[in-house]
Amino acid sequence: MENERKHELFKRHPLLKNMANADAVFWENTKWQKKARTELFSMKEAEDAEETLKRFSSYLIVAFPELAKSGGLIESAIKEIPAMKEALEQEYHLLIAGRFLLKCDNTLPISGSIKARGGIYEVLKHAERLAIAHGKLKKEDDYAVLATEELRAFFQQYTIAVGSTGNLGLSIGIMGKKLGFNVVVHMSSDAKEWKKALLKEKGATVIEYEADYSVAVEQGRQEAEQDPLCHFIDDENSKDLFAGYAVAAKRLKVQCEKTNIIVDDAHPLFVYLPCGVGGGPGGVAYGLREIFGQHVHIFFAEPVASPCMTIGLMTGLHDAISVEDIGLDNKTEADGLAVGRASKFVGKVMEKYINGCYTVKDEELFTALRLALASEELFLEPSAHAGMFGPIQLMKNGQDYLEKHGLTEKMAQATHLVWATGGSMVPQEMREEYLKKA
Ligand SMILES: *Cc1c(COP(=O)(O)O)cnc(C)c1O
Repeated sequence: MENERKHELFKRHPLLKNMANADAVFWENTKWQKKARTELFSMKEAEDAEETLKRFSSYLIVAFPELAKSGGLIESAIKEIPAMKEALEQEYHLLIAGRFLLKCDNTLPISGSIKARGGIYEVLKHAERLAIAHGKLKKEDDYAVLATEELRAFFQQYTIAVGSTGNLGLSIGIMGKKLGFNVVVHMSSDAKEWKKALLKEKGATVIEYEADYSVAVEQGRQEAEQDPLCHFIDDENSKDLFAGYAVAAKRLKVQCEKTNIIVDDAHPLFVYLPCGVGGGPGGVAYGLREIFGQHVHIFFAEPVASPCMTIGLMTGLHDAISVEDIGLDNKTEADGLAVGRASKFVGKVMEKYINGCYTVKDEELFTALRLALASEELFLEPSAHAGMFGPIQLMKNGQDYLEKHGLTEKMAQATHLVWATGGSMVPQEMREEYLKKA
């Protein structure tokens, strides 16, 4: 980006300067609308995704016996974490008014991260489309037939490719290989060794890059274009991924009702979602706004070195600006969030839907990692801990926001929901290594 243009942007958005200095910031989205609407996506697509996932439940139980107890549903619990709340209050010398809950996507079956929603859904939808088109399956069938050798042999003719910082590759690799597909995962330099090793063990082809996520995605896209039998899962643009993530919202509503969590004008719900390219948090946020309307307050969390969604929304430039453009290096221990350029599709949808974003320093991620282990015996990967910092940022730097939205008096009745986006598959040695940094 030219210097002149950069100066102009810094002048128009003073917070950008703080971000260029890698400060932790809290940004309110003033384009947020009470009754947000979009032409780019509809709840019907999320409902279709839910139906598709239901059709696959009998197959999933056969393929992944761990899913028997949920009837083939890939879902995670919500749970109160009062000891973590207290630990954060002491560490940061403030009080967090309201209930403090965790959405445990770190324990999602099959791949242990939020990518088990969108990633697995897109693989299943693609498999269904192919099998139906070739007369191997009807929507009325028992989908357990997909676990037979005949169907596995059928899928072996096809390839699924994806570019990833790690967890999306893991989800697509595990699911794709289970069905019988060839899977090619283009991994950015941030991807952890254990994730690559696990994928190779499952039979996926892993192509490693010295470059960051955007390069890995672009290479994957180009290679896939050469092969008509290859389906490229496009993390930067895919509506199927988005739909798979959005399914979480309706299910969350049921979980809230069962846990006596009220969400209405007097009982605001605050949700903190770690954000990389945007698809995961974006899909969830879209669904939550459809379900809870203006009573849910959604904030995206990004590392100070990789705030691509924040700068994209703030400037309105979306994918036409990168974190490198403002002098940041996109280097963070939060490997799942190491994305320098946001999804344009997601950014455009989110413009009116989310209430804001904040950024977190890597050292805070490790502080939260240490506190969560000590207080709740809870392990999350560093990326997921970006969410833990949300209530702190809101209490410290969001007082204007709370005043403006008439929320200050309602905070005792509020619920904070931290979206724990990953961690259960991280090997023990790696956990210990992380803890050493804390
Ligand atoms: C991928 C990921 C995210 C963010 O999802 P995006 O779709 O990339 O925005 C957050 N946390 C973890 C652990 C992830 O793997």
